[in-house]
Amino acid sequence: MEERLSNLICGALLHDIGKILYRAGEGRGNHAERGADFLRALNFPDGIVNLCRFHHDSELRGSRSADHLILCESDWLSSAERPEKEEAEERGRWEPYVPLLNPFSKLSLNHSEEPSYTGEWSFFPVRPLEGEDLPFPSADPKLSGEEEYRKLVESLKGRLESLPPNPELLLPVLEGSLSFVPSETRLAPAEGGMEVSVRGFKADPARMPDISLFDHLKTTAAIASAMFLYLLERGDEGFEEGLSSWDVIRRRDEARYLLVGGDISGVQRFIYTISSKGALKGLRARSFWLEMLTQHVAAQIIERLHLSSANIIFCGGGRFLLLLPNTEGAREVLRQIKTLVNRWLYDRHGLRLYLALGFVPLCGMAFLSSWWKWRGRRDGIPRPLRAEVERAFYQCDSCEFARGESCSLLGELKPRPLTIPDALEALNRRLGEEKGKKFADMLDFRPREQERGRCEQGCEDVPFECQICHVENVKIFRHANPPDADPIHACPFCFQLWKLGRLLPRVRFLARFPEGVEVSASSDKAALFELPGAVYLAAADLREIEEAARAKPEALFVLNSFEPGFRPLLIANYIVDPEESPDFKS
Ligand SMILES: [Zn+2]
Ligand SMILES: [Zn+2]
Ligand SMILES: [Zn+2]
Repeated sequence: MEERLSNLICGALLHDIGKILYRAGEGRGNHAERGADFLRALNFPDGIVNLCRFHHDSELRGSRSADHLILCESDWLSSAERPEKEEAEERGRWEPYVPLLNPFSKLSLNHSEEPSYTGEWSFFPVRPLEGEDLPFPSADPKLSGEEEYRKLVESLKGRLESLPPNPELLLPVLEGSLSFVPSETRLAPAEGGMEVSVRGFKADPARMPDISLFDHLKTTAAIASAMFLYLLERGDEGFEEGLSSWDVIRRRDEARYLLVGGDISGVQRFIYTISSKGALKGLRARSFWLEMLTQHVAAQIIERLHLSSANIIFCGGGRFLLLLPNTEGAREVLRQIKTLVNRWLYDRHGLRLYLALGFVPLCGMAFLSSWWKWRGRRDGIPRPLRAEVERAFYQCDSCEFARGESCSLLGELKPRPLTIPDALEALNRRLGEEKGKKFADMLDFRPREQERGRCEQGCEDVPFECQICHVENVKIFRHANPPDADPIHACPFCFQLWKLGRLLPRVRFLARFPEGVEVSASSDKAALFELPGAVYLAAADLREIEEAARAKPEALFVLNSFEPGFRPLLIANYIVDPEESPDFKS
């Protein structure tokens, strides 16, 4: 079953790959056929090739293949903008080489129903993300051409060639190649005063393509895998054998999904409440460690459910947002992770840090709701969707939030199904409540004995608490500074972070090992740090990682890069190069 799910995720991640082949003028047929031929030539397994080949409902009439139907439905749910676009197409224009609108030019800070824009539109060039050189948006909606797309296809081919069909390896390749490629390329005619001229056509800039192909593929995979696990746990007849029907798959009023939020509380105090001794390096290592904690917790949840990072919608700054299946299995994993992480944090940091976790169930209609809430009126809903909106509005029995007439969580009447913005609001409220009763569900705290630690270096005058983070009950202190300076007595955690802080500017790779595996950082080119249930090794080069443990790492990461074969860790670039910042050198 895990292989079937993994194939479904890969199929969802690759289903529209034919679009760039079409734009490059390569292959023949529609984008589904071109995509399938491309994947077959790269030796992808038949299961994945066929998912790509048959992902349109016109080709799935009468089909009973559960996974094909799931992919087709997820594709639909992940293009909420499509009905509006299709409406526009009748009067608009299809322009395959139009660039991606910079979504920041659509940022509207008023919260009324009709957004207002600054009127400064900018666009990204179509090209892969390579190295440090980021494409910069420009005001000119310059059309890309076949040539750009051909280059894109070439570089993608090279990256996919020897890649095993594994979602975690596929995701960074697609992110690197398709982040600046528009998912749809239809233009709507200008209305209401705003216009951008594209090859003489006056287009409405607010409705120009602003969703990248990568984001569309990623959300399709997230929805498909959550729907799969929901239907699997429900155990419909035939599902395990791969069979289902349109009537079942298209029930958009069932609460099949969970929008999950995680929030580490105490971050500010944790970073800044350290003594001024060695503060600068301490700050950097501490914020890096917190970033890793957030990423690690999100990854643990995903991995225990056999999902992929496609289900991590957002992760950074001590927070994450996930899309999970609304299953007992997922709720159980959330309970386990919350207990594991908070016990671990309590044992090392007392009451300083706490993981709040919350979730809100969602039905399929929520994915389609963003734009019809935005429009705010029933006649704004394109005709094919009206019946479904009404069904979800009047007949939803399974989703407490979609019912309309009563919603316990939002505490008010909502005369429409729950939308994504409503869900985020509800989630924030839930996380706020959680943070307000930190650790309240862990009543069996072990009392901490009061005892005085000793110094590994044998100093007689040992402080009562760690001189960096002030945590008490430290058993063994280590000196967190070079041998010739006055000793700073640190707890084991601060000692590890001190070593990590010195190495950070040179760190390129990280490896994760399960807790209990013997790992050692033998040279000054590697440093260890711990996170709940795991040990990480940060290193300047890969050799350090090979030499650090006999066991193979569970996962290999590369910092701020999309190198094939690694999972990317995109972390703010506060890790400066030591050559550029002499005061940072130890
Ligand atoms: Zn699609
Ligand atoms: Zn000492
Ligand atoms: Zn400490």
